[in-house]
Amino acid sequence: MSGCVFCKIVAGEIPAQIVKKSDGIMAFTDMNPQAPTHLLIIPTMHIGSLNDAKDPNLLGSLLTFARELAKEKGIEMRGYRVVVNTNPDGGQTVFHLHLHLLGGRVMNWPPG
Ligand code: AMP
Ligand code: ZN
Repeated sequence: MSGCVFCKIVAGEIPAQIVKKSDGIMAFTDMNPQAPTHLLIIPTMHIGSLNDAKDPNLLGSLLTFARELAKEKGIEMRGYRVVVNTNPDGGQTVFHLHLHLLGGRVMNWPPG
């Protein structure tokens, strides 16, 4: 989708540190990391938010991808957090569906 920063990363039009790719999904490092490990997992197809994600298989694949990455990064045993901010009250700022994978430190609850 033109004007979407994550679609531009998918297209290679703006740089990102890509850490993993598979069919229709990719992960790259967050430019403003909130934890020692902070990755973003996105569908390569433009989907605005969780509200717009109609395919339950895709949602399952995104979550599985996050879990695999947590294992690859060695944070699966100590633990990690997967976050999907949705719309303004949820704190979403980039309107291309993404999962945050955060780990490498103790997370607080509630998240605020
Ligand atoms: P959210 O607030 O859930 O929409 O999260 C958007 C995230 O995207 C933020 O954590 C930003 O730091 C991150 N972000 C925005 N632009 C880029 C970019 N060009 N490369 C990497 N991360 C980005
Ligand atoms: Zn997009």
